[in-house]
Amino acid sequence: MKRALYPGSFDPITLGHIDVIQRGTQVLDEIIVAVAHNDAKQGLFSTDERLEMIRQALGSKKGVTVVKLDGLLADYARHQGIKIILRGLRAVSDFEFEFQMALANRRLFPQLETIYLTPKEEYSFISSRIVKEIARLGGDVSQFVPPVVSARLKAKFTAA
Ligand code: ADP
Repeated sequence: MKRALYPGSFDPITLGHIDVIQRGTQVLDEIIVAVAHNDAKQGLFSTDERLEMIRQALGSKKGVTVVKLDGLLADYARHQGIKIILRGLRAVSDFEFEFQMALANRRLFPQLETIYLTPKEEYSFISSRIVKEIARLGGDVSQFVPPVVSARLKAKFTAA
């Protein structure tokens, strides 16, 4: 049984993340999307809002579950008996950080392997940060995120 954790901030989830999850389901038996909860790093959306948007966007996709991640990823993986971390690689700019993380996680839990999937080219420039910036300035983000996220972003910035 190949079970993998797909950790991230997902603030908010984008079509790039969803593409990675979709591709992951072709090669893995189960993907656990782990939404990092960090009190010190406040995002635009609360952890619960992010979880809710991911669950709505994914619907009941077979083999995919969504959890809140408190604390260290390597500890969570060890406790759950999960030995694969899934991450997305968009461009060379992602590489350095991903490389550091993979090696640090493996030091913390030696059986942990990190695997990478690349998204469809048209999603390769999308990041949560860019989506938030476009939405904040009143732009239409519907081609970058699922409808639930587009609506939430609009509501957030209209209310602000
Ligand atoms: P983090 O803050 O931990 O980098 P993100 O939510 O930004 O979390 O991303 C989680 C994972 O998804 C990372 O591996 C990131 O590289 C990947 N990712 C983000 N956006 C995309 C995208 N457009 N295509 C493919 N992978 C992506």
